[in-house]
Amino acid sequence: MDRPERRTVGRAVPDDDTERHDRPVAEQADRTEQRAPHETSEARDYRAAFHVSRLAMALLDREGTVLDANDALGALLGTGTGALADQAAADLLDLASDTRTWHAYREALDSLRARFRCTRRLKHPDGRTLWAEVTVAPVPDTDRVLLSVTDISDRRELQARLRHLQQHDPVTRLPNRTLFFERLAAALESSAPGDGPFEGGGGTYGSRTYATGAAAYGTGIAYGVASAAASSSAAAASYSARGHDRASGPGRTPGRGPGRGNGRVDGRTGRIGLCYLDLDGFKAVNDTLGHRTGDRLLAAVAGRLTECADHGGYTRSGGHLVARLGGDEFAILVEDSTGTEQLADLARSVLAALQRPFDLAGQRLSVSASIGVVERAVEGTTPTGLMQAADTTLYWAKADGKARWTLFDPERNAHRMTRQALTSALRPAVEREEFVLQYQPLVGMADGIVRGVEALVRWNHPQFGTLSPNRFIGIAEEDGSIVQLGGWVLRTACRQARRWQLDHPGAQPLFVSVNVAVRQVWDSDLVGDVAGILAETGLSPHLLQLELTESAVMGSAGRPLQALQALSDMGVRIAIDDFGTGYSNLAYLSRLPVSVLKLDGSFVRGFRYDEGVHPSPADETIVEALIQLAHRLGLTVTAECVETSGQAARLQRIGCDTGQGWLFSRPVAPERIAEMIAAVSPNGV
Ligand code: C2E
Ligand code: MG
Ligand code: MG
Repeated sequence: MDRPERRTVGRAVPDDDTERHDRPVAEQADRTEQRAPHETSEARDYRAAFHVSRLAMALLDREGTVLDANDALGALLGTGTGALADQAAADLLDLASDTRTWHAYREALDSLRARFRCTRRLKHPDGRTLWAEVTVAPVPDTDRVLLSVTDISDRRELQARLRHLQQHDPVTRLPNRTLFFERLAAALESSAPGDGPFEGGGGTYGSRTYATGAAAYGTGIAYGVASAAASSSAAAASYSARGHDRASGPGRTPGRGPGRGNGRVDGRTGRIGLCYLDLDGFKAVNDTLGHRTGDRLLAAVAGRLTECADHGGYTRSGGHLVARLGGDEFAILVEDSTGTEQLADLARSVLAALQRPFDLAGQRLSVSASIGVVERAVEGTTPTGLMQAADTTLYWAKADGKARWTLFDPERNAHRMTRQALTSALRPAVEREEFVLQYQPLVGMADGIVRGVEALVRWNHPQFGTLSPNRFIGIAEEDGSIVQLGGWVLRTACRQARRWQLDHPGAQPLFVSVNVAVRQVWDSDLVGDVAGILAETGLSPHLLQLELTESAVMGSAGRPLQALQALSDMGVRIAIDDFGTGYSNLAYLSRLPVSVLKLDGSFVRGFRYDEGVHPSPADETIVEALIQLAHRLGLTVTAECVETSGQAARLQRIGCDTGQGWLFSRPVAPERIAEMIAAVSPNGV
């Protein structure tokens, strides 16, 4: 770059003339007089005005060299006026440190622009920092250029203070929402796509994976081979162990590990983390102890959060940003996070820090907080996306019982998101028949022989994979597509049951139990449909059982009751599904054309003697009484969710007729049922 060698103002020139600007005007005028004896009086007046002006000024030549400077400039720069002559203005005012400024300045010197203005940060010889507004303008019809400098330090400081006020919360002195979002946006922008080690942007979600359906289970079925109740049987014992294992609920796979992104030399990890926190029950503090105490508490909480954030490690930009987003909501932003573990540690330390009681002007207060934790690759992340995830996660933390941290779980989130997506996809999916049926054996408790199977529908969604009915049956009931779907299920199940029967003529035929939604009874000609399907498939009515929920049959009068009666008259069995979850009156039920009660799984769960779980004798007493009463009313009882051999043994002892559950088999594909039938069929078919 074509420019003079730079010198900083701070070490610029000897201070031999510092006092001159304080001298009387007359004396200063004398000096200028000496310099230009040939000048007109008008020019002398201007020169005098130039020198006494409080505006710091200098006359430059076209090269930018100082020809003359006034005392105000000498004072402003702290160099004294005399020392300024013959200096390059660019050096004095740091005009050459960036290319754009330098070019604009050169253009002004060359009269290519009428004026150039910039703000420079200068170092005064006394050590302080100076903000100067520099204006450079060619003097028309001369080869001179006028430079003027205004000290705008006070204005800058005021602006900075105002900005600080705008960006900070007066109660806690923490950065507020505005600053938080500025920093968040900057953090997401500063990590350019593709410049990290995280191509593809996936990564350490620390996601939870829930134990899923049937796939690995339901192999050897206690089909006429061993009594399910015989807890000593090896098969039953092994089912018990596995069933118990699976039944222990959601499993969790660890995140792909923290520190994976630490390999970058510049300390950037290409990842970002956020703890989004909300105090539990803060409103009560405000309401009962007043806003002053509330404010004090918020300030004290802010202090503890800042401590945690400071101990939580430093990023390029210092500690983690702690901000108050409003009310009792805070956020800790972790730039260049190293993985979920770092965020989890931070969240744990925050919960621990808040657990210590607060002493607020003599009042001891305890609070807890709920924290939503999100950690992800910067690439592909937007401020809105991150905040929405944090918000959802915080909501989960609250819903899961407060006083805890919860990690963002893409699966759980997908669940929430997909409800909407599923709603719009459901009808076309019914048309395209994207559904399949699985069948779960219904086993005689006394002999372990499979009597029938329940048909359970699954949706093979092209995007979301196999979906369980709990995900879409509710939606289908809401939008009415259950009528069409239910019709398909009924036809497919009946056709399948008939197929098994035809393929295995030597075996005792299995009945098929089909779930029927309330709307199918109300909004479609269920009786006509069933009759048509039975005729079409050739399945005998006594091999069909329909499962309706209590709410579908309770209070039935008119059409539903007539429908149930007609079906029953046809020879089709009606079962009450999930019995015990509603408020059915058993005596009333017995007057309906119902022949089977399917006891809800929650009853059977109280039976877990054998796993060392505290038994629930009350449940057992209730179930025993229920079964006896049902029998007296001419109903048979099927227990759902039989998972252990211990449960099976007790159910058998108290007279339960049929059982269904993982102990016997998970719901399986029709081919597996066919194999089962073949295995026990006397002639192997
Ligand atoms: P449901 O009719 O009570 O079916 C039994 C549910 O319990 C099935 O869940 C089954 O997989 C599950 N289950 C079976 N054994 C065990 C066990 O030992 N332990 C535990 N914890 N669970 C067990 P699935 O297949 O997810 O079906 C859920 C519900 O969706 C069904 O409950 C039923 O109400 C509904 N559903 C399924 N298929 C249809 C259908 O075709 N039409 C209608 N309207 N509803 C259906
Ligand atoms: Mg059912
Ligand atoms: Mg059920």
